[in-house]
Amino acid sequence: MASTILYIEDNPLNMRLVRKILNHMGYQMIEAMDGLTGLEMARTDRPDLILMDVNLPDIDGLEVTRQLKAIPNLRHIPVIALTANAMHGDREHCLAAGCDGYIAKPVARQELRNVVEHYLSKSADQHVS
Ligand code: MN
Repeated sequence: MASTILYIEDNPLNMRLVRKILNHMGYQMIEAMDGLTGLEMARTDRPDLILMDVNLPDIDGLEVTRQLKAIPNLRHIPVIALTANAMHGDREHCLAAGCDGYIAKPVARQELRNVVEHYLSKSADQHVS
């Protein structure tokens, strides 16, 4: 069965771009346009990976990540932060909030592919052991 990836993102253009890339790779993408909806979808749909925009209209992506990582049966799901903030220290903030990885926007197709495949194969290994 194809892996399911949840993308939490309020920008429709980014959503469309990432959807195209992931669908082309054969993954199923589910979508939330704000943080609270994303949290709820993570609970109900149990995705294999979460792509997390940092700037969201309600609670920000770092807070969503903190909350996800506090839920015992969800904390194993890799969370990859996507942010346009090239500000120094941004990566550290993401990692401190519990994000497993980080991609800078604008999203580069090949980087997204590499990161997604890396984290999905890592979590597949964990399930074997
Ligand atoms: Mn945003």
